[in-house]
Amino acid sequence: MSVRHAPPRDTNPLPSGAIVARMTDPAADVARKEAEELEAQVAEYPDDRAEILREAAYAWLDAGEVARAEQILRELVTEGGEDGCWARTDLIEVLYTDGREKTAEAELDALARHPELDRGHCAVTAERLAERGFLTRALAWYDRFVARLSSDDLDALRGPKGWMSLEAPTLRGRRQVREELGLPPDATDELVPGPPTVEDLARLRKKMERFASSRAMPTQVRVVVFTRPERREACRMWPATYTADDDYFDAVERHWREIAESGGSSIRLYPITARGLARFAETEGLDPEQEETRTRYLDTLSDDDAVAWPPGRNAPCWCASGRKYKKCCGAVR
Ligand SMILES: [Zn+2]
Repeated sequence: MSVRHAPPRDTNPLPSGAIVARMTDPAADVARKEAEELEAQVAEYPDDRAEILREAAYAWLDAGEVARAEQILRELVTEGGEDGCWARTDLIEVLYTDGREKTAEAELDALARHPELDRGHCAVTAERLAERGFLTRALAWYDRFVARLSSDDLDALRGPKGWMSLEAPTLRGRRQVREELGLPPDATDELVPGPPTVEDLARLRKKMERFASSRAMPTQVRVVVFTRPERREACRMWPATYTADDDYFDAVERHWREIAESGGSSIRLYPITARGLARFAETEGLDPEQEETRTRYLDTLSDDDAVAWPPGRNAPCWCASGRKYKKCCGAVR
């Protein structure tokens, strides 16, 4: 098997700050082309302008064009609103990657005061700070996330299916940061659901088997998928298995159309996170890079988290690009 641009397995994956290394990489040319294509799309899809530009900023960063990435994000920040808030989370990432810690910290303070700040921004910012080893700052952002949980969220976390909760991974991240800071467990740490037990997993497997045997034709195809941001994360975590392949999302779209057109099958997508898969593999003592592990992970996922493919033409694309399906993967020919 040939692996493109993958670092040797015995070295650390490329740190996100390694811009100089990236500039000498042929991947920089691919990134530059992607950035230019994205910018060209803005005129065509004015409704999705902010999402497209944020994606373009990351492509410029990958291409080693930090100033250009920063300029795009600063313009979006100035425009304000929820998009401006997301742009600021990205701007902070760009500034840290560029080694401008003080400027990044000023932007973090501005983000904290942003009127549109929600739990999503808080969770992403906390995780990114923790990844960079800024534990005290990360904890402050985890606490902002916790402060935005509703009583329904808290009930779900305490319930028997707490391990399936979407908030659980963020709370686990918070607990880990607190442990690393040498802090004793607090009331929020008590809320962190444990991993699924063997019984939980067996119950789910049985449920899936019952479901499978009870259903007549047509067959249902269940697919574990990474969204665009999660695939980027998977490329970072497992470069030998996942490569930053431009055509990947087009290829899977065509593949599913073939399945659908060959008759009878409906397709359900189960979007997963790279960290979720890594955690499951660790709990079960499995190799996260094996297909078998993904298949077993699929059996633990809730049907509530699945999405039917294809989405509606005007619905958000399943790949989490932030654009309408008809303008994103649905536009593939
Ligand atoms: Zn898409």
